[in-house]
Amino acid sequence: MAPYSPPTGNRIEKMRLDFNENTVGCSPKVIEFLKENLTAERLTVYPDYTSVKRTLSSFFNVEPAEMLLTNGTDEAIQVLINTYIDDNDEVIVLIPSYAMYRFYAEVAGAKITEVPFIPPKVEFPLEALLAAIKPATKAILISHPNNPTGTPVSLEAIETILNAAPQAAILIDEAYYEFCGTTALPLITKYSNLFVSRTFSKTYGMAAMRMGCLFSQAANVAFLHKAQSPYSVNTLAALAAEAAVKDQDYARNYVSEALAARELIRAGLEKLHISYAPSAANFILGYFGPRAVEIRDALSDKAILVRDRSYEIPGGVRITAGTRAQAQQVIDELERIW
Ligand SMILES: *Cc1c(COP(=O)(O)O)cnc(C)c1O
Repeated sequence: MAPYSPPTGNRIEKMRLDFNENTVGCSPKVIEFLKENLTAERLTVYPDYTSVKRTLSSFFNVEPAEMLLTNGTDEAIQVLINTYIDDNDEVIVLIPSYAMYRFYAEVAGAKITEVPFIPPKVEFPLEALLAAIKPATKAILISHPNNPTGTPVSLEAIETILNAAPQAAILIDEAYYEFCGTTALPLITKYSNLFVSRTFSKTYGMAAMRMGCLFSQAANVAFLHKAQSPYSVNTLAALAAEAAVKDQDYARNYVSEALAARELIRAGLEKLHISYAPSAANFILGYFGPRAVEIRDALSDKAILVRDRSYEIPGGVRITAGTRAQAQQVIDELERIW
């Protein structure tokens, strides 16, 4: 395996447009609620998920038995792979996409088939994906919208895939759902091979808490439970998630700010004749040609962090959309550098 060590060092107090996190911080109500509940007794007892399960299942409009709380989406992917994938089983991933799909599939000893997004348009490669599905395919891991391209997948395409691979566990990772607005979640009642994940790391500004949810039919979730440690979500993360979903004003405001910021970045790139992939998420992949790494470093000198992805997509640099003010700053800086 190639080691995966994302550049997470030294990011505090910089403009963090490199990991697609919320760029302003979680709702103040989350912090207040955590402070109120941060007692010695709370820290002493093992987590009790009764309340958070009630709150989240009602928020997501699923039965409690259709939901697994996870230590970030990363654990959702890990538990899904551990439950359904054995040595030499076939797993399909798209490239470029979220690195953790390949990571956990490799740890499990899977045979991995990669289906490429074709630049510069990077549209969802439905035909190529369908062609890659074999009777032996055991899992298909899809990010909707895709990171780092921003490509959404239509619900029609998702249903086509679900029907084409009834024998496979199909994950639709909806880490960027709030920015995109279309979801496969209601389809879990119809398709027993569908798994949908959500995270509190992006819109809700809680990446440090490690909190996610995995949804599927109750019989599947019962299997997933067997492969999960009983206390992998800590009490503070569970408390924070409850407070976070209760403050939808905060979430709505942040999403509309990020979408306005994305439009500013898009228009800024356009003006500089830098091409980009159309995005349904809170980031844009710009194509900076051979100067990708140089641009990343020049922005970093100004304490603006963006993510070089040119190692996997030619010239690709991914810029997170946070606030309009931040977007204006990164575009102003790009105008100076370009
Ligand atoms: C950021 C991101 C996540 C979030 O992962 P967590 O473990 O919940 O922080 C999941 N999937 C994709 C595709 C992402 O880009």
